[in-house]
Amino acid sequence: MSDMFSVTLPSGAIWTPTFVAALDEEKCIGCGRCFRVCPRGVLELVGLDEDGEHIALAGDDDEDDEYEKKVMTIAHKELCIGCTACAKICPKKCYTHAAAAAL
Ligand code: SF4
Ligand code: SF4
Repeated sequence: MSDMFSVTLPSGAIWTPTFVAALDEEKCIGCGRCFRVCPRGVLELVGLDEDGEHIALAGDDDEDDEYEKKVMTIAHKELCIGCTACAKICPKKCYTHAAAAAL
């Protein structure tokens, strides 16, 4: 793991964060739990149409939206700090996290 990004905690312990890498849209039920716990604005709820394409949600007026279901997406992966709160709270085990290569 020496070539992976890690930080030294105040205790002196080494911690290797694992960052959000993938989200399984097949399993996702769009419950929004992960969105609520993410402290970094990484995630975004979108509509998924019958062709598997993402559709931006209109906000408070859903009536004309043509989507099959709502799914969470990783909208801003670069903002992730690797806390894994999203994976811990997800009831469907949608998330894959991975350590990052050190620069
Ligand atoms: S690991 Fe933490 S910061 Fe990254 S997407 Fe999940 S909740 Fe947000
Ligand atoms: S917590 Fe899991 S099932 Fe719920 S919206 Fe997030 S990824 Fe989807």
